[in-house]
Amino acid sequence: MTTQTADHTHIRATNLAAVLGYLRREAPCSRAAIATGTGLNKATVTSIVGDLLDRRLVRETQQTQNHVGRPATLLVLDGSAYATIGLEVSARGLIALSCDTAGGQVLRWHRAGPGVDAGPAKTIAALAALARRAVTAVQSSGRQVLGITVGVPGLVNRDGAVVLAAGLGWRDVPMRAELAAAIGRPDIPVTVDNDASLGVLAEHLYGPQAGTANLIRLTGDTGVGAGIIADGKPLEGHLGYVGEIGHLRLVPDGPRCGCGRRGCLEALASLPSILARTDGRTDSDPQLQLEDLIRRADAQEIAVTQVLAEAGTYLGQGIAALVNVLNPEVVLLGGAYALLADHLTPAIDKALREATIAPDAGGCTVLASTLPDTATPLGATAQALTPLTRGHLPTR
Ligand SMILES: [Zn+2]
Repeated sequence: MTTQTADHTHIRATNLAAVLGYLRREAPCSRAAIATGTGLNKATVTSIVGDLLDRRLVRETQQTQNHVGRPATLLVLDGSAYATIGLEVSARGLIALSCDTAGGQVLRWHRAGPGVDAGPAKTIAALAALARRAVTAVQSSGRQVLGITVGVPGLVNRDGAVVLAAGLGWRDVPMRAELAAAIGRPDIPVTVDNDASLGVLAEHLYGPQAGTANLIRLTGDTGVGAGIIADGKPLEGHLGYVGEIGHLRLVPDGPRCGCGRRGCLEALASLPSILARTDGRTDSDPQLQLEDLIRRADAQEIAVTQVLAEAGTYLGQGIAALVNVLNPEVVLLGGAYALLADHLTPAIDKALREATIAPDAGGCTVLASTLPDTATPLGATAQALTPLTRGHLPTR
């Protein structure tokens, strides 16, 4: 490709992403409104919309724009031709979610999974089986699968390898390569990302705090991790290893952490560590254990509320470290933390205010997520759209 055609392709991709982004926010809208809204000239918009219509990513609809005047031809996103699949691995099981390109949910499945101690090979095999069934279901709905993205609670490098997932006991697992091979569909791109980063992406795009420029989402279902939006953009860092607040050491001679050190926030306040201190039945289904924990907390069982208050204090100290460095407007409690928020937030707020240097915790509010269990797979469906939003259209 010559430099000139490369430039042209890049400009076309950027313009296409702008048109799709405008449609996602404003549809139904006219070609003229897209031109005004994106700053592109009308001929460019007409040409791009032609491509999108050809590939069934948008469709035309006759509507009256105002109450007066003749009906205009407006454009809406079309979800009938393409979808993406988002997967999540956690101590609570496996989740598959598929959304079409207009944002409609195609399927949502939860599976118990082979268990935290099963090791990567069995988990990847179970995940691949779930992904293959999801691909079949999406295809039988008449849609083409554009991509599959998996959220994993751990450090994920640029090649999609899991360098360390302390809560799962995984080290150096070439997850993307092994999962792609097990799914056996070389035509469908597979990517792997950190679960917390995908979770905050979903909140930033679709949640009640959508568009909040400085937003953090904390989860602790397996390990403890934070997804971070800073100044309007996902914080990625040098190699992608951001948000590992779970390994902030709060108690030097505290309980052993999955990372090999002692007294990390994760060893003190993750859901598995909370369950270990409130429930002896560590071999039963984690989902049932959580439901039991919530029921006992709601009944004000003292042994449970004390453990939650203590976990809340440690979480508040961990959040304070994030607040001192990043000054977020909102910190969302995701996953099990959202379901336990009533019992955790008084202690979190108190510890946060004590440990932040800025007055009033720098204006930060801690809230329960309204997407407690779906944010990571939802963020994964959005991430799997990346090539499209960058303007790379699927081949016909
Ligand atoms: Zn640790």
